[in-house]
Amino acid sequence: MPKTAQLTDLVIVGAGPVGLFSVFECGMLEMKCHVIDALDAVGGQCRALYPEKPIYDIPGIPEISAAGLIRRLEAQAKPFGPVYHLDQRVVAVTPDGGDRWLVETDTDTAVNARAVIIAGGVGAFGPNRPPLEGIEEFEGRGDGTGVHYLVKRSGDFRGKKVVIVGGGDSAVDWVLSLAEVAERLTVVHRRDKFRASPESANKLKKLALDGAIDLAIPFQLAALEGDGGRLRAVLVRDLDGRMRRIEADALLPFYGLVQDLGPIAGWGLNLERNLIGVDPATCLTNRPGIFAIGDIAAYPGKLKLILTGFSEAAMAAHAAYALVHPDRELHFEYSTIKGLPGGSN
Ligand code: FAD
Repeated sequence: MPKTAQLTDLVIVGAGPVGLFSVFECGMLEMKCHVIDALDAVGGQCRALYPEKPIYDIPGIPEISAAGLIRRLEAQAKPFGPVYHLDQRVVAVTPDGGDRWLVETDTDTAVNARAVIIAGGVGAFGPNRPPLEGIEEFEGRGDGTGVHYLVKRSGDFRGKKVVIVGGGDSAVDWVLSLAEVAERLTVVHRRDKFRASPESANKLKKLALDGAIDLAIPFQLAALEGDGGRLRAVLVRDLDGRMRRIEADALLPFYGLVQDLGPIAGWGLNLERNLIGVDPATCLTNRPGIFAIGDIAAYPGKLKLILTGFSEAAMAAHAAYALVHPDRELHFEYSTIKGLPGGSN
């Protein structure tokens, strides 16, 4: 049985960079938010996929790590007192019978809000697991050993024997960054061409030429060796069936994201290829009171960039104002004029 629903002005589905910034935009318009995310921490793709990579295209910040950007967005949202519900998926968004929405999660959280902003990115993340028998036994260890689909801190792999599998951007970028901290790093890839940017692929090849990393190419994962959840070695097989054993404390398979909208697909929204079609002037979906912003929102000319999502957060907040405060007229004000809660303006 769900608990009694908590009342708020807006629910934001997704605590990625765009969801976090929409807390700020809503807060500036005196709208309170609850934020729900399937991950156990805020940050979306920035935290889960590339926390230590530098981002160069945030206006006014020449360079910032993805994790650093998330820390700043969280700090920017904090004065508005958002309520976070993490480590839980939103499974249902239904009209409550009046002019509000009931948002429910898989852990029985229920929030009743006047409007909903979906900032769900590519949907709730799930790892694309290699089809290896018993792989689950080695997953979820916090000490940098075993099988990991995401890197939270490169320091976790310091002094470890690491095997990275894949040839795309994530795989190659983590090779470049972990080569410095791992005791030994081996790259397993099924062909000799990398899909990563040519510059990164060339850097990887140079590391291999210098003997700083080992390559197992063209090889594919065949089996894992270890016991009690402790990984000892990764077995790989080439196209002729020849096996090779690579000693390993940690295996990082980068087989891409499972792009699954999950429960969002069942909320009666206008979906276009796993994205939610919106009115680009307001980010309103086909359901009154439900907005979509960030990577998940689609309209002609859409650019999937963090800065685009920030602008959409501002537009959705302004459009939601009339629903949350139907009795008040919205006077557009700059932040320089309005100031922050508790500030001097
Ligand atoms: P996301 O960051 O995807 O966050 C969405 C969140 O919603 C997730 O945490 C997910 O768990 C949650 N969620 C989804 N469905 C549910 C549900 N049903 N219940 C609960 N939670 C749910 N962009 C740039 O502008 N500049 C760059 O330099 C740049 N570099 C990148 C490098 C890499 C390697 C990658 C992968 C992306 C890069 N991007 C970059 C893209 C950028 O990260 C995305 O545009 C941005 O993260 C989108 O933000 P978002 O908040 O819309 O979605």
